[in-house]
Amino acid sequence: MTAEAELRAGIVEVGRRMYARGYTASNDGNISARLEPGRLLMTPKSVCKGFMTPDMLCITDEHGRKLEGDRDPSSEMLMHLEVYRQRPDVQAVVHAHPPIATGFAVAGIPLDRAVLAEVLTTLGSIPIAEYATPSTRELPEAVRRYIKAHDGMLLANHGALTVGGDLFSAYYKMETIEHFAKISLVARLLGRENLIAREEVDRLQGLRGTYGIKAPAPICADPADALALLDAGDPATCQIVQAPAGAGQRLVPDPASGRAGADDGEIRLTYRELSALIEDAVRNLR
Ligand SMILES: [Zn+2]
Repeated sequence: MTAEAELRAGIVEVGRRMYARGYTASNDGNISARLEPGRLLMTPKSVCKGFMTPDMLCITDEHGRKLEGDRDPSSEMLMHLEVYRQRPDVQAVVHAHPPIATGFAVAGIPLDRAVLAEVLTTLGSIPIAEYATPSTRELPEAVRRYIKAHDGMLLANHGALTVGGDLFSAYYKMETIEHFAKISLVARLLGRENLIAREEVDRLQGLRGTYGIKAPAPICADPADALALLDAGDPATCQIVQAPAGAGQRLVPDPASGRAGADDGEIRLTYRELSALIEDAVRNLR
């Protein structure tokens, strides 16, 4: 099999898996890969990714001009082209609408908490690119802000985008994002998340080197500083991860879940205690 035939078969297989896992419905989603310099293999528009055949794919140049194929390239091609422009290391781009991760994207909740070691060592954090009208120039611009520092991101009220050094590594990152979203949702439904402490996050980041994981950017040393720069409109240069200081502990109850312990300076009362206090205060007023 030639390299091109192999890549075509790979894209068809990734499309089939995405559809089978419910990451796309109908004709959603798109996949692309670098074929050789100046030539990109791209899924076509208006085709269900679960039922593609290798001959349906088209070849474009790096500006999106169609070079080969009977069908027109994906309507989200501009987003793919922007990724290849910004990241010469990227060989493949995958876009889908996996429902749990997309739920987080709709809720405006980034997947940036330090809860799973394997996510921290591979993707780091998964930010949300600002809402943009699909298929317009807005979308590549929203993606450009995060793509130099991230291999995966949510797209506000739309879906998720992952990239990789080869086709399957880009696809597996999509699986990781949806799996991470599912676990985060369950933990939040259960009412608490224990976070991995900052010191342990630093240790896990050190493991990236040991395992040869090529992360596009380090985890931000100061998340507040990094957020201020992002808010000022700068592109991300590091990955924001929410991880509290551990003070000797490797797992820390999440302060935001309201179960962080009695010494966090917050006073909590039951409804009965609160009523008694109010009754007492009213009595004293009379
Ligand atoms: Zn989409």
